[in-house]
Amino acid sequence: MTAAIRSWSEQEGAERATELFERTYGTAPDGVWAAPGRVNLIGEHIDYNGGPCLPIALPHRTYVALRRRPDDVVRLASADAAPASWEGSLGDVRPGGDFPSWVAYAAGPAWALSAEEGARLGGFEAAIVSCVPWGAGLSSSAAIECAMALALDDAFGLGLGGSPEGRARLAAVCVRAENEVAGAPTGGMDQAAALRSTEGHALLLDTLDGSVTQVPFDLDGAGLALLVVDTRAKHALGDGQYASRRAVCEAVAEREGVPTLGELVDPQAVLARLDDPVELRRVRHVVTEIARVREAVGLLAEGRFEELGRVLDASHASLRDDYEVSVAELDEAVEASRTEGALGARMTGGGFGGSAIALVPLDRVEQVEEAVTAAFVGRRWIPPHFLVARAAAPGGRVRSGDR
Ligand code: ADP
Ligand code: MG
Repeated sequence: MTAAIRSWSEQEGAERATELFERTYGTAPDGVWAAPGRVNLIGEHIDYNGGPCLPIALPHRTYVALRRRPDDVVRLASADAAPASWEGSLGDVRPGGDFPSWVAYAAGPAWALSAEEGARLGGFEAAIVSCVPWGAGLSSSAAIECAMALALDDAFGLGLGGSPEGRARLAAVCVRAENEVAGAPTGGMDQAAALRSTEGHALLLDTLDGSVTQVPFDLDGAGLALLVVDTRAKHALGDGQYASRRAVCEAVAEREGVPTLGELVDPQAVLARLDDPVELRRVRHVVTEIARVREAVGLLAEGRFEELGRVLDASHASLRDDYEVSVAELDEAVEASRTEGALGARMTGGGFGGSAIALVPLDRVEQVEEAVTAAFVGRRWIPPHFLVARAAAPGGRVRSGDR
């Protein structure tokens, strides 16, 4: 038996959020908003390096029921968090504020909306429920930030959620919340996936200029599935390692006189003259991964999936050997998937645990799941969880108060 990560229907999510809201606050919410988790097909650790990445939005979403308040009190409840609720005032929500860590993700967008957009919000009550697993590399963090940002945008009449340009600004608001309130130095991929994707498409995000291209993504027609393996491994050293990878990239870019590695004029020449072996490996990952994203987009468009699989494999090798962000559980998930018939596989997300993806013939999905589970059990690891990813819709309002 293998374990699936189930996604809720929009109705189920809206009902769960409304139920938690009414139980907690004894009144009805103004509405319910939702935003999805994501899985990145390729372009890993590139969103802070001025290059392209290619995520899809998942059907797994975080739902926020919210109601405006006439004062500046903020009350939050999350079905999954500990402590399960928090109360403060709007002014308490800021970088360096004193609150449980999850509150930074939930309320950080309120601070960032005023810091970034000059928005004047009032207080609010919110209830949060989610079927996006935490820390699985599927970006539950952006899902909660973006659901909350959409809710506040709509409830306070800011009007950003209604246009592509406004959504790009909301994504920037959420990045700022994650960087400055939650203190996580991540790039902008996750928030773009949650707010700027379209159903049935992967989102080609160019993080150099923030532009997006919708890339048709339908594997069913090709008899394939994108299998996500949540290894459920979480390695404590992950956080500092992320920041240190980013610091090396920024240091080399600065020395080369460009804002990001994605803007190197002659990347091969830079690689040839880097003599620090760690810097060489890190920059080589970034340079080759950027090239792989462009290659992958072309192969996807032409339906050349065997070759696409090999590009995924090469991405994994680069993340494992050059960027050194993989761990045994991810390597095992990738190896076992390939042995069982996957066309290609790679770790996805930041690494040090979290999830892997595998491009699998539809009729082999079960065997791959069983083989990966058996490999994990054989190594006395907790069994992984699985989902078959489809490119779902971006975040938005899912229910109005006057239903
Ligand atoms: P990932 O984004 O890969 O899931 P992160 O460490 O970036 O992992 O973000 C996970 C954090 O986001 C959680 O530890 C929690 O603080 C916050 N979070 C995510 N979803 C929720 C939720 N439904 N309720 C409260 N906090 C949440
Ligand atoms: Mg995250």
